Amino acid sequence: MIKLKKSVLGLPVYEVPQQALVKLNQNESPYDIPAEFKNEIMERMKKYAWNRYPAGDNIALKKALSHYTDCPYENIIAGNGSNELILAVMLSVCDKGDNITLVSPGFAIYAYCARLMNLCITEVPLKGDFSFNVSALYTLARKTKLMCFASPNNPTGTTIDISAIEEIVKLNQCLVVVDEAYFEFHKSTAQHLVNKYKNVLILRTFSKAFSFAGLRLGYLIGNKYIVAQIEKAKLPFSVGIFQQVAGGFLLGQKKFVLNTVNKVIKEREKVMAELELIPDIEPIPSRANFILFTLKKHNANEVFQALYKKGILVRKFNHPSLDNKLRVTIGKPEENQFFLKSLLKFLEVKNA
Ligand code: PMP
Repeated sequence: MIKLKKSVLGLPVYEVPQQALVKLNQNESPYDIPAEFKNEIMERMKKYAWNRYPAGDNIALKKALSHYTDCPYENIIAGNGSNELILAVMLSVCDKGDNITLVSPGFAIYAYCARLMNLCITEVPLKGDFSFNVSALYTLARKTKLMCFASPNNPTGTTIDISAIEEIVKLNQCLVVVDEAYFEFHKSTAQHLVNKYKNVLILRTFSKAFSFAGLRLGYLIGNKYIVAQIEKAKLPFSVGIFQQVAGGFLLGQKKFVLNTVNKVIKEREKVMAELELIPDIEPIPSRANFILFTLKKHNANEVFQALYKKGILVRKFNHPSLDNKLRVTIGKPEENQFFLKSLLKFLEVKNA
């Protein structure tokens, strides 16, 4: 009889619906990279021997990342999406039963990996206005091994001040992972803390601003020694030739990335302003590429289904603090308008 780990048997399957006319549920970029970029990447790919393993140290990609982040390449690790790096951090820091502190509601993968590893999870609820409970995090920093939070936070879009992060890190009691998946939209970073403190890591992804969710590429910035240890906990060759070539190429296309980010920010503000005008809805101001909103009178699942029938996928949750909320990713202007129009229509019919 095969005995599987209880922690695996107890985990739900991580699945998110992926087919829709208007897909606004996974915080992806609505803009694919242009055909000429894809052609150039394919041309570069032809020059590599596909029968050989990729460069294990990703040195060319790390140097391109070093240029983009203005941080020495020895302080950077690339991973197969930032999800892989979250697990690598936990694997290199935590043993079974160790305590990890997370913010709630927060990005589901932290708790998912922690459960897989049989860690003891302490969740720090966000405050009523969805801001971070800094004093609780500060207190817990003395009692936990690892603290992990995203700023801007997913799914709320709210942020923690860099000065508050520094106060927590300064205690030097636990390792703090600051997930900056949405950094390009927020335009603020805690990266400089890496130069002052060994116990802070900055996590980023290519899945949002870089339009690369399908390619799987993320990176971690931290103290040189710590980063070298975490690299050992990551499976070798997890960043293939394709990610290395494509990532290196796109890092040289700052104009494209900046342009798509600016379009998304402009749209975010427009969608926010329009949601604010709807009496039955309360949107939460966001610094990322999505907006979480409360349905004051209506059932979130019913609204989700009504939108889905129109071909629009947004994100619903089964977290107690989110049961009357939906999250919408900012899409192209016409997608956002279709979403807003369909939402208004539903509310109009319901309120008639
Ligand atoms: N961190 C946060 C906060 C996220 O929202 C996401 C994706 N939704 C990720 C990490 C995962 O990114 P990746 O695609 O690089 O694994």
